[in-house]
Amino acid sequence: MRFPKVQQIQPVSSTKSGIYIHFPYCLQKCHYCDFYSVGLDEIGGSDFDSRLLEFEASLLAELNHRSRDGAFLEQRYDSIYFGGGTSSLMPAEMVRRILSGLHASLNIDPDAEITLEGNPENFSADYLLSLHQVGINRINSGLQTYNSRFLKDMNRYHNTDSYARLLQSLAECPIPSVGVDLIYGFHGQSFEDFSADLNRVLAYPLQHLSIYSLTVEPETRYARNIRRGSQQAPEEPLQEHIFRRLPDILAQQGFAHYEISNYSQEGHVCRHNWKYWDYRPYLGLGPGAHGFNGAFRYANPRNLVTWSQNPQGTAVESERHDPIIDLFLNLFRITLPISLERIREVWAGEEALCDALDEMQQRLMDGLDLLEAKGMGTLQYGSFQWSPEGLLFLDSNIEKLVQIVSDPQMVR
Ligand code: SF4
Repeated sequence: MRFPKVQQIQPVSSTKSGIYIHFPYCLQKCHYCDFYSVGLDEIGGSDFDSRLLEFEASLLAELNHRSRDGAFLEQRYDSIYFGGGTSSLMPAEMVRRILSGLHASLNIDPDAEITLEGNPENFSADYLLSLHQVGINRINSGLQTYNSRFLKDMNRYHNTDSYARLLQSLAECPIPSVGVDLIYGFHGQSFEDFSADLNRVLAYPLQHLSIYSLTVEPETRYARNIRRGSQQAPEEPLQEHIFRRLPDILAQQGFAHYEISNYSQEGHVCRHNWKYWDYRPYLGLGPGAHGFNGAFRYANPRNLVTWSQNPQGTAVESERHDPIIDLFLNLFRITLPISLERIREVWAGEEALCDALDEMQQRLMDGLDLLEAKGMGTLQYGSFQWSPEGLLFLDSNIEKLVQIVSDPQMVR
């Protein structure tokens, strides 16, 4: 084995905020994908350079607008995440200009984690070097599977050569934290198929792995195809089998399970994503991006044209956060011990909850006691940690907890 077996890992201790940039283009649209993005195969890529410049101008206009919100202006930021879409379609020089705009407008720590995610076809050695030179210090690449049949079924653009080269390029690049995404549970996939993907990845010195079970999001082409009968649903028994086995397999390789789908070497937990799970504020920019200033959430239009026509204040949805549902949906995704003090801290900041604080805490304890009695987790030392069983039924467990805290009659 290359690494000592790990069982536990330190969470991120930062209480600072993050910045998310949503890049709106992909080469083509994967059938399972629910993120907002436009496939270049549908709109034609011939004027892509001018589209990139338009996107950049709109993004900087939105930054100018949102950075005037006192709640965002006063924050200190220690993470920036270029997601999307396929952010690796951006030239490094454009990434540099956007970073320079962010630094000019907001208080960003000099040692901020700056991630760019993208796809294998873009991560050449030269491109990775250029990204390093403009300040990117973390890379995440969607790989999903090496199996061309599954990739083709899902309409995922893939170039076999770039898939073969990716891990070597990541291993040799000067960027200090690199990782990949895998997906499991494709129709027709076996455990051996998945193991072949995993073993290929584990042969390289990666610091982070995101390993998702294939899901059917209702508004996707995949969901429509299943309804029509032209595609088949994911392999659920295989998904459960893999989900149960993965933490141990990866612990043997030095990766700790820290969020439902995320595994990290010590010191490489994704600082940016941790902000969502730890319920910290974050600024979201770009079409389809979400943001949270600590009290209000907003969602930008999932439409490039609508967003770019008026990026200065085009949020179609802006609403006060729900300090039970929103908080639990984020906080209870992590697999490390979940601090009950963090819940109290969020609730104590809500004026409307002040009088009910003790009662809500009691209901929370009742709910967690109930989950523990059912073998779903362990409550100790001021924290709660899911058991493997609890994680397997995470959505229904969180739903139950929300019901109990919202309505004490639900405790049975
Ligand atoms: S490349 Fe990524 S963002 Fe683009 S459609 Fe596929 S999964 Fe979605």
